[in-house]
Amino acid sequence: DAAINRIAAGEVVERPASAVKELVENAIDAGASRIEVCYADGGKTLIRVTDDGCGIAPDDLALAMSRHATSKIDGSDLLDIHTFGFRGEALPSLGAVGRLTITSRVDGFDAAVIRVAGGQTDPVKPAALSSGTVVELRDLFYATPARLKFLRTDRAEAQAISDVVKRLAMAEPQIGFTLRDVSGGGEGRVTFRADPETGDMFDALSGRLATILGRDFAENAIPIDAEREGLRLTGFAALPTYSRGAAVAQFLFVNGRPVKDKLLTGALRAAYFDFLSRDRHPAAALFVSCDPHLVDVNVHPAKSEVRFREPGVARGLIVSGLRHALANAGH
Ligand code: ADP
Ligand code: MG
Repeated sequence: DAAINRIAAGEVVERPASAVKELVENAIDAGASRIEVCYADGGKTLIRVTDDGCGIAPDDLALAMSRHATSKIDGSDLLDIHTFGFRGEALPSLGAVGRLTITSRVDGFDAAVIRVAGGQTDPVKPAALSSGTVVELRDLFYATPARLKFLRTDRAEAQAISDVVKRLAMAEPQIGFTLRDVSGGGEGRVTFRADPETGDMFDALSGRLATILGRDFAENAIPIDAEREGLRLTGFAALPTYSRGAAVAQFLFVNGRPVKDKLLTGALRAAYFDFLSRDRHPAAALFVSCDPHLVDVNVHPAKSEVRFREPGVARGLIVSGLRHALANAGH
């Protein structure tokens, strides 16, 4: 079983940022309103995600560590999923590739802790924690030096962690996020912070955009709201003058999940084709939402590609929705 876990783990955990993604998604699924991510040495020696969500009951801690154990679906409709997680693979995978400690408390129970290292699970023990969950992953890939070698510099891995956290923060403006580099020990240094946003979807997103991309950007972004054949497009797109030299300011989501998808980025580029030179990239935070039966966002657990049943409709929605909004803004 340990070997199977290690093989499957390679699918889910490629680098520190993929572990952070899984842990923050779990915190979001747990209904957290504040999530803190600490990391040391680019996440190679330490990743710690703390949330104030529903917690895991002592009896469920060991279960959460077993493969394909998920509390999130009953298996009746795989397409009708409203949580990030549903495979029950992340925690056992992380326990197979690093030293994992989960401390958690559910209202009405005592706090408990479980430790897993190299696929070996210790019994659940009592712990001290007032609420929520703390998941700590130390020494990622310590048992697989071959994988360690493929990691990039601490700085590059930290950048990838920051990217993952910002994408999830853009997807969930009502949740507060703190990212902390604790490489030197102690409190460390806050490298990103987003306070919880309030108001309707557009207000909250606009506030989060200002935090992540700057107030100037947020104030000059055009709200988008378009629909085509069951697909809805909402969010903000920047005026062409706010384009970037790299595609770093493109935040795309399908049914609430961050995606990096060629069809969608291609459509975004096409919408701005008349206004931007080849070396400029449009900036936008766009949410495509539709009936889950019209799209597969789970092509691969660690990848963020999507497959629309009607790709032409998705492309057309983005191109025409953005062109229309840009034209209204005088372009
Ligand atoms: P999945 O997210 O696909 O269900 P995971 O392996 O990521 O699988 O997590 C297994 C289970 O552990 C989850 O279904 C959930 O019940 C529980 N869990 C994990 N992280 C948290 C958390 N931060 N707060 C509450 N429950 C959690
Ligand atoms: Mg999960």
